[in-house]
Amino acid sequence: MREAYDKFQSNTSGKNADYIPFLAQVDSKMFGVAVVSTDNQVFSIGEVNYAFSIQSISKVYTLALAMEELGADRVFDRIGSEPTGRAFNSVTAVVEMPTHTGNPLVNAGAIATTSLILGKDANDKWNKILDFYSRAAGEKLTLIDEVYKSEAATNAGNKALSMLLAKYERIYADPFESVDIYTKQCSVGVNVIQLARMGATLANNGKNPVTGEQVIKAENVPYILSTMTMAGLYDGSGGWAWKVGLPAKSGVGGGIVAIVPGKGAIAVFSPRLDEAGNSVKAQRGHRVRG
Ligand code: GLU
Repeated sequence: MREAYDKFQSNTSGKNADYIPFLAQVDSKMFGVAVVSTDNQVFSIGEVNYAFSIQSISKVYTLALAMEELGADRVFDRIGSEPTGRAFNSVTAVVEMPTHTGNPLVNAGAIATTSLILGKDANDKWNKILDFYSRAAGEKLTLIDEVYKSEAATNAGNKALSMLLAKYERIYADPFESVDIYTKQCSVGVNVIQLARMGATLANNGKNPVTGEQVIKAENVPYILSTMTMAGLYDGSGGWAWKVGLPAKSGVGGGIVAIVPGKGAIAVFSPRLDEAGNSVKAQRGHRVRG
């Protein structure tokens, strides 16, 4: 881990996400790596205290929660699991794909997955999601209000996706309410160790290695990992599978978490992204095959 950290620390390729104004001004030099094993050994280096926004990595855990509530089959029927071959926020994918939703890890499919979460009102659904993420991390997580506000003020694209899904009857609650809850889930703050712990819960067949709680049903974990392998790094997923080969998920906040089933998880944080929206240094930091 130290070797990878030293090797890539000075890399300045890529740039911060700037379509969410808050993310554009995050210190792009930050770089942190954490490994958490299924028996909760923690190894970390670099920027381990900064809470960055989880962004798209949240999609994995909302998928897990939807499966807890509805079962894997119903989630598969309502969302599907096909690669889109397009950008994470693609409108044409919604129009052209037979399922319209694509898969739970692109924006359209993720917003539809959020719309599946049951609750008496928006607040109830949101609290349930935040509580579920906190249980996966083994400690209380919170919303970064500045990220939420910045993203909520600029999320016309996601609102458009939600209305398009409504046209195809592939969103299952009020479209704008679902986008708002989705925007909140993307704005949850995690440091790199908390993110690795969330990953370690998946690596440990759904059981949190710190609290011992079975957060995700073990039978659902293979569906989650296969979806991550297929679409966790968007259009970079095939290259990632070739070069790294671990189920993983990236977020435009600069985080990537990769799962080593039965052993643990590796989380890397660095804000500069490549064209596909994946952190450049986090990908390098994970790369073990040259
Ligand atoms: N909140 C971001 C969006 O909806 C998440 C995208 C990502 O992390 O890739 O655009």
